[in-house]
Amino acid sequence: MRSMPTIYLDYNATTPLLAEVREAMRPFEEEHFGNPSSVHAFGREARAAVDESRETLARILEAKPHEIVFTSSGTESDNLAILGAARARAEKGRHLVTGATEHHAVLHAMEYLGKHEGFEVSVVGVDETGRVRPAELFAALRPNTILVSLMSANNETGTLHPIGEIGPGLRKRGILFHTDAVQSFGKQRISAAAWGVDLLSISAHKFYGPKGAGALFIRAGLPVTPTMLGGFHENQRRAGTENVAAIVGMAKAAELALWETEDRRLFQLTEKLWEGLNGKIPGIRRNGNVRERIGNTLNVSFEGCDGESLLIHLDLEGIAASSGSACMVGSIQPSHVLAAMGVPAELARATVRFSLGRATSESQIAAVIDKAPAIVARVREHSQKV
Ligand code: PLP
Repeated sequence: MRSMPTIYLDYNATTPLLAEVREAMRPFEEEHFGNPSSVHAFGREARAAVDESRETLARILEAKPHEIVFTSSGTESDNLAILGAARARAEKGRHLVTGATEHHAVLHAMEYLGKHEGFEVSVVGVDETGRVRPAELFAALRPNTILVSLMSANNETGTLHPIGEIGPGLRKRGILFHTDAVQSFGKQRISAAAWGVDLLSISAHKFYGPKGAGALFIRAGLPVTPTMLGGFHENQRRAGTENVAAIVGMAKAAELALWETEDRRLFQLTEKLWEGLNGKIPGIRRNGNVRERIGNTLNVSFEGCDGESLLIHLDLEGIAASSGSACMVGSIQPSHVLAAMGVPAELARATVRFSLGRATSESQIAAVIDKAPAIVARVREHSQKV
């Protein structure tokens, strides 16, 4: 592929595969291609690799290997957690609680249960920084609440919810707790036990692993009704032949994650980016929690700009950013995350998410600060004409 002189600032959409990860995966795409369910030597080899990867992820999450179920993505992991746990508990109650800024993989699964399976769903709002207020969440609980799902870090703003504060309170009430940790895994240390969560979702391509690989932590003994049927894989919790190479790659990527060290570096860089932009461009506003956030994400609204044109002009200047969630490309709907935070629709449409990662350097950030004022001025001028 042709190499492009592009500054990639869209790591929340996806990350590149690390060379070490590709190297770890290669044998399982070539000579060790067996099906882990086969009894012969080829199968046993593949099974051993899947088991070893499960142990690695369990160790990192401070969980037990049998508590990890491999899935095809973060979306499938969120779906299995919500549909599976709610269906398995439906006899005990039919009330579910989630947050207004969740990813659609959570919100749509909740909506589906509400529309088609007789569940009631309460959606708890957030403050102007995108953080849920624990008191408000606890006030939404009812005697028949069986499950709460709340993400750890938001994909559009980077804002962190106080998961560790909420978990023990739900545990005390016997309510299941799922967290979508897709954006925080690899950045923020996560302990399933310390957070008091029963279900936790991750996705490999957000932490320099392959696309199409995810996992769900399911606390030992917790019944979860499968959403994929047709086999006894993953301890009867997720049918389908395991993607061995991707699973091996996900475990390798988790082992190589840089956690807080890199998170702190990127925190400084996003601060620098914000200060640089704010010092040079009038009429801009930062969205999200300034302190309680993953370090790599900066969400900025540019008054008087059309967001889509801004992204295109940034791209033409070699800067790859995003308007928010990748799933919204082609849609003119303003982000539901920003709407929940009270950002007016007009401003939400004029928003860019910069998400930084391993290859982001001081000089790249300086280049963005240098180029952005002229790009924004051009887009503003053009937006006024149309
Ligand atoms: N949850 C969050 C918070 C995400 O950011 C994403 C992806 O953008 C997902 C879930 C879905 O993950 P995947 O792309 O692996 O399906």
